[in-house]
Amino acid sequence: MELPHQTQRSSSTALLLVTIIVVGVFTLSFLNVQTAQERTRRNVEERVATIAAALDTEAIANLQGMPTDADTPAYRSLKSRLIALRQTSGDIRSIALFVAKDNAVVTLVDSQQPDSGATHTDTPTLRNIFYSAPIPVVEGPVSNQSDSWVIALAPIFNPKTGRVLAVVQMQLDAAQYNQTVVSALYIPLGVGVLLLVGVIVYEISRRRDARLALMRSELVSIASHELRSPLTGMRWAVEGLRKSVTNKAEDVKLKAMYESILHLQAGTEEILQFTALSGAPKPNFAKNDIRALVQEVCDTQQLVAQQKNVRLVLRDEWPTKVLLTCDANGIKRALHNVVSNAIKYTRNNSQVEIGYQKTAKQHCIFVSDHGIGIPQSEQKKVFGGFYRASNAKASGVGGTGLGLYLTQAIIAQHKGKITVESQEGKGTTFSMFLPDR
Ligand code: ADP
Repeated sequence: MELPHQTQRSSSTALLLVTIIVVGVFTLSFLNVQTAQERTRRNVEERVATIAAALDTEAIANLQGMPTDADTPAYRSLKSRLIALRQTSGDIRSIALFVAKDNAVVTLVDSQQPDSGATHTDTPTLRNIFYSAPIPVVEGPVSNQSDSWVIALAPIFNPKTGRVLAVVQMQLDAAQYNQTVVSALYIPLGVGVLLLVGVIVYEISRRRDARLALMRSELVSIASHELRSPLTGMRWAVEGLRKSVTNKAEDVKLKAMYESILHLQAGTEEILQFTALSGAPKPNFAKNDIRALVQEVCDTQQLVAQQKNVRLVLRDEWPTKVLLTCDANGIKRALHNVVSNAIKYTRNNSQVEIGYQKTAKQHCIFVSDHGIGIPQSEQKKVFGGFYRASNAKASGVGGTGLGLYLTQAIIAQHKGKITVESQEGKGTTFSMFLPDR
């Protein structure tokens, strides 16, 4: 079974939406991560610069970068200062001070080990700060198999010469740094996942509905076509038999058969109309006299009404002619559905009235009966298609639940509306409003 073009078009729209969401999420995630990375880097730079500013330049100037420094008060005071600074935050692993000496970079004081004067493994970044760009720098996260860390470096200037006196290095555990960057993904990914789930759920239910609607319409259409021709044949045959039969008892049986066939035919027609409605040819709008259309419908319903001893009455307010641009066949079908319902659901020996009212912009045709009514809670549902009110079902009167659905669709084609007022056990009035044009 092929999905209709509209469904295929909607699928491409869903695919386009998914693509837009995925691209959007990627772009947003990328930008968010970049911003978070930038922010975290700046924050680390500020931290290392603050540490650099907190160190005693005079004590630094007093040290030689030799193992003998370890016994000096300047070394001890710097060492305890570095240890205290390291303890200010859980993610700082170590803080060390470096100086440039004899064209090499050596460790001056380290918060971890007493390795004053040890030659430090030079890095281009460290040299760069000493010799060309004395600004804070953040490197990393750097990882090996079991660990990952971030290095932050900042220059300490000699207040007298303004030259770089030393460089402070702070080594951070990368976990917190990474966490900040990764958390920048949460919002775009969360929103993206929600949007994708929404589109997928919507698409699944839309496809299922479209398939079900298609299957239902195809099944109903096939079934109806299969029923229509044999029913017409049976009707002709029974009509012919009734003309020739003289025995009254036989005629009663034939009459019951004839009515059942009429009933089946009406139901079949409703089903066919229902399935054809979406693909039906455009309504043929022309000036028509609605009163004449109402009269035509009443004439065809007279026989059925008589059988229940129901009087079909056109109320006095009807003008002799009401000209209106409409699709005559559609309006007759709508009127037929409402009038035949009124007869079907009204009490025996009662009256069905068809009235008319004109307001500035619209014509209202209303059909009132004195029948079983529609329970308040079900009044809106009766226009929904395949719906029959509980009391109608319980009454044993047959029906498909399609007539009002079709009627509403026809009135909507005319840019009008249909309303219902009903009291259970008392009666019902359906009003069809058609714009004056
Ligand atoms: P049906 O073939 O069942 O009459 P319709 O679509 O014409 O289908 O009507 C839907 C339901 O609305 C009916 O089954 C019935 O419950 C209710 N209904 C419609 N017209 C009347 C009415 N005049 N009086 C009471 N109930 C009505």
